[in-house]
Amino acid sequence: MSSRFVTITTIVVAAFAATANAQPPSSAGRPPGQSSGDIQIKQGESCPPGTTEVRPRICRAPQSPAPSILDYRPVSTLVTAEHLVPKAKYPAIDYHGHPNDLITSAEGLNQLGAALDGINVQMMVAADNVSGERLVQSIAAIRASTKMKDRVRVLAGVDFRNVGPGWGDKAVKQLEADLAAGAVGIGEISKSLGLSIRKPDGSRLHIDDPELDPIWDAAARLKIPVFIHTADPEEFFKPVDYTNERWLELSLFPGRRYPQDQYPSFEELMKERDNLFRKHPKTTFVAAHMGWYAADLGKLSKLLDAYPNVYTEMGAVLYDIGRQPRAAHDFFVKYQDRIMFGKDSFQPEEYPYYWRVFETNDEYFDYYRHYHAFWKLYGIGLPDSVLKKVYYMNALRITPALPRSAWSR
Ligand SMILES: [Zn+2]
Repeated sequence: MSSRFVTITTIVVAAFAATANAQPPSSAGRPPGQSSGDIQIKQGESCPPGTTEVRPRICRAPQSPAPSILDYRPVSTLVTAEHLVPKAKYPAIDYHGHPNDLITSAEGLNQLGAALDGINVQMMVAADNVSGERLVQSIAAIRASTKMKDRVRVLAGVDFRNVGPGWGDKAVKQLEADLAAGAVGIGEISKSLGLSIRKPDGSRLHIDDPELDPIWDAAARLKIPVFIHTADPEEFFKPVDYTNERWLELSLFPGRRYPQDQYPSFEELMKERDNLFRKHPKTTFVAAHMGWYAADLGKLSKLLDAYPNVYTEMGAVLYDIGRQPRAAHDFFVKYQDRIMFGKDSFQPEEYPYYWRVFETNDEYFDYYRHYHAFWKLYGIGLPDSVLKKVYYMNALRITPALPRSAWSR
């Protein structure tokens, strides 16, 4: 060891000892950077709980009690360009709407219209999985609204109870009735298909069960899209330990966990979904939430490349798009004809976060829901031609029954 190295080591150790208010700088024998109370680990080991790595393989506990992840709210010191985008640049279609009761009355529709005007959403596709009388009521209320009659459309739900012989005919008849009443597609097929719905014999109803084929084939024949949500974020299927990116969410909402002794695995559900896409190449499917592959765009690319009948929608996965701005930009440009805007949970004040991610190159800004993502977002700066496709052109193309006058002015 050279004498110069020893001198530097001593200074570093002294500085640390001073800040930590620990031992005097008589640290003979300690590795560089280490002070009393520190824990040395071996290559490849992680620091023990309650400590963090302050120098290579040296772990230290903070001198003050550490805040919980709920209470640690550092304020960013980064000063950089900010471009807030309260309204979408082009009139958007929200393909993943859950307006619920807002579309069953004139008053609710007016309220919805005012909220959509404020964020430049021209049309909402209601994916509330309704059928029969409830669907007829909503469509009547929409048609009676001068302001909203061309701004809301409804997808028809499918009832997966008692799937067995005869189910297909009944389901197709109901679908035809719902379309005659004014529905424009099927959806949202909920995650309960695959996760929890059972057949009369008690077995789990698989997403690719052949008894369901008649409804998917009817969708192809009737030229309507099928909007389908399969599974949930992969972390919901994983052990809820401190390495789980969604620990906070799974602790706030324990019902979102899928313990593997009670539920199928994420991979199993993806396999069943992909079988469905493959078995029905003439049916147009829209995989909600980017198929829960937004954290692995390579996988999503493979899915879209393998099944040209599949489109995708990005509701509730902005946290994954906005944390990989370069890869997401390239992905949106490459698959610009296959991606649609959708928001899911209807909170008007949350839409501008989407516009800002898509339309700007802003850096390191807050997301709206801390428990989804404790990281910051970045803009992906999409060109106008791509924005138009994602905001409305793709939705209009795959959903022939949507009114389009608003975009031809
Ligand atoms: Zn939904």
